[in-house]
Amino acid sequence: LLPIGAAIAALIVAAMVWGLRRRLSSLGELNVAIKRREFIVHYQPIVELRTGLCVGAEALVRWQRPDGSMVRPDLFIPLAEESGLILPITDQVIAHVVADLRATLAAERHLHIAINLSADDIKTGRALASVQAALKNTDIEAQQIWLEATERGFMDVNSARVTLTNARAAGHAVAIDDFGTGYSSLSYLQSLPLDSLKIDKSFIDTIGTDSATSSVTPHIIGMAKTLKLKIVAEGVETQEQADYLRKHEVEFVQGWLYAKAMPATEFIAYYQHNLAQ
Ligand code: C2E
Ligand code: CA
Ligand code: CA
Ligand code: CA
Repeated sequence: LLPIGAAIAALIVAAMVWGLRRRLSSLGELNVAIKRREFIVHYQPIVELRTGLCVGAEALVRWQRPDGSMVRPDLFIPLAEESGLILPITDQVIAHVVADLRATLAAERHLHIAINLSADDIKTGRALASVQAALKNTDIEAQQIWLEATERGFMDVNSARVTLTNARAAGHAVAIDDFGTGYSSLSYLQSLPLDSLKIDKSFIDTIGTDSATSSVTPHIIGMAKTLKLKIVAEGVETQEQADYLRKHEVEFVQGWLYAKAMPATEFIAYYQHNLAQ
């Protein structure tokens, strides 16, 4: 029995070492990608439900490998967040938003771009400083840049309150992202300076189904209204979902029913077309 146990133990150790090596090598790759500035941004339109007009977009990072292939953010953001590499990635996202859209934003004052912030971005306040530095010497107004933070980003609630208060004082709107997937209580949310709330796709998915969660969605909408927050529903894929959200007076929607995330040039064309309608 003993040799088998030892063999299993050795296997486990080998697997751990292998896992660690892999993680270290992907960390190395991530570091190289940051140095080579391989991160770009795609934009997913945000639509006002009442008018059907595009009012903004969410900036979604993409890792573009030298061979042209694109890596999805859920494959590298968690590692970047754990390893402290998210800060330089956020900086690259901010730089792209300004470079891609400065002329469009200067010409279209009603257009806003939402940028995702991770826990470290908020805790250190560095992302806000980066946004302010990037907007300097441009015609972009602070109110045109919205900031999205998940509940994970509010873990350190005191530093979060400081950063969010500073962000709003500078003119930015602040949204709580992926709402409903964390564990925020109403009183906790009430204590933070927020403008809007993004309902996570997992809740939108249940609209029109008889799953147990489907009964939660109207409560989340009600909660946002109680807190006087504007609502953005994410991941809207069907007309039935859109109709339901309109009936519940949700202000903004985002999802494949309207448009997927797209490169900046396509987004500018989409926005101008959508305005002309
Ligand atoms: P998120 O903030 O919840 O962003 C929405 C995600 O849902 C995006 O995935 C978007 O492409 C996808 N989506 C939107 N509408 C639909 C739909 O109708 N159907 C389906 N199936 N999916 C839809 P994406 O771009 O892969 O981003 C994944 C996550 O990665 C984001 O979730 C966000 O948490 C994170 N992320 C993306 N960009 C950044 C960034 O610049 N910084 C940080 N810190 N995180 C980012
Ligand atoms: Ca987001
Ligand atoms: Ca979200
Ligand atoms: Ca989400």
